[in-house]
Amino acid sequence: TEPATVPSIRRLDQTVVNRIAAGEIIHRPANALKELIENSIDAGSTNIQILIKDGGLKLLQIQDNGCGIRREDMEIVCERFTTSKLKSFDDLGSIATYGFRGEALASISHVAHVTITTKTVDSQCAFRASYSDGKLVPQKPGMSNEPKPTAGNKGTQITVEDLFYNVPSRRKALKNPSDEYSRILDVVTRYAIHNSGISFSCKKQGVNMADVNTATNNSITDNIRLLYGSAVASELISVERDFEELEFKMKAHVSNANYHVKKLTMLLFINRKDGNRAVESSMLKKMVENIYITLLPKGSHPFVYLSLEINPQNVDVNVHPTKREVHFLNEDKLIEAIADTIQEKLAGANDSRAFYTQV
Ligand code: ADP
Ligand code: MG
Repeated sequence: TEPATVPSIRRLDQTVVNRIAAGEIIHRPANALKELIENSIDAGSTNIQILIKDGGLKLLQIQDNGCGIRREDMEIVCERFTTSKLKSFDDLGSIATYGFRGEALASISHVAHVTITTKTVDSQCAFRASYSDGKLVPQKPGMSNEPKPTAGNKGTQITVEDLFYNVPSRRKALKNPSDEYSRILDVVTRYAIHNSGISFSCKKQGVNMADVNTATNNSITDNIRLLYGSAVASELISVERDFEELEFKMKAHVSNANYHVKKLTMLLFINRKDGNRAVESSMLKKMVENIYITLLPKGSHPFVYLSLEINPQNVDVNVHPTKREVHFLNEDKLIEAIADTIQEKLAGANDSRAFYTQV
């Protein structure tokens, strides 16, 4: 028997389509913040300050001292596929941009209220504008959409309020602000350690003490000491090596056999044109765990910071923005080379320690 009425097919409203797409890209406050931090790094900032309320669900604010955004670009900056970083499809390969291609701000503006205050070095004053669903909206009811001149220093402040206010199911899934806050701290910590030329701070609104606070030009190991403690920092072995045939360089700080904890800390960065992007590779993780399996007590794990500079043509550019996992050409060879190098260094360190204790 036929159904009483055949449902008609209708085109979804564009705003709904965008909201669904944005919810698939931005899962929680920490990934929105990751994108904002990378934008600030790309803008050449040397100072990045982050302010959080309710685990980023109520407020996520980032202030940088980078190049700023031109007044005339403010109208389109939150639209989808608007970017100053990628001009042609061929750039995809050479700049090895792993995630978003002008989609981050757009996505965020579809699931939150966004306000941008920004000043370029040439501008007399800063401008402020608010956005919703990719477009300019009035900053207060009755006001026009136009960016408003305001006082401000060179750089950009982006305020993201009421994340997922219009996606109730997503909002409900994020019940625990303190869990969201620790994910935020994890992201900030990773970027603060890796970008030693940039000072980072992160704190909760209304609290004086910052939870992350690094100084410009701290070394990577200074930052590891500051953020992960001296117990790990004083047991680190540093490795730096250039593999010409495989077209990559590695730089690592790994804990020695004296240090072990219940949970693996692995900070992995892979190059992009300006500043590296934190990524994940389950192959590399497995490799690391294998190296330490004979060195550490059962059930305990090392601390590993690993930064790779790989010929961008050999990195599998991650065209889909939700994937953080990366792959490279000659992955097996590359991983073997990294493992051998670390293993060699660790063995050397253990020998010298045995030597010193005998003396
Ligand atoms: P993408 O980073 O892939 O270009 P985004 O949506 O993250 O896409 O950002 C869009 C554009 O907005 C960037 O290309 C950049 O020109 C500008 N922008 C975003 N954040 C900042 C910032 N903090 N400082 C200066 N420009 C910014
Ligand atoms: Mg971006």
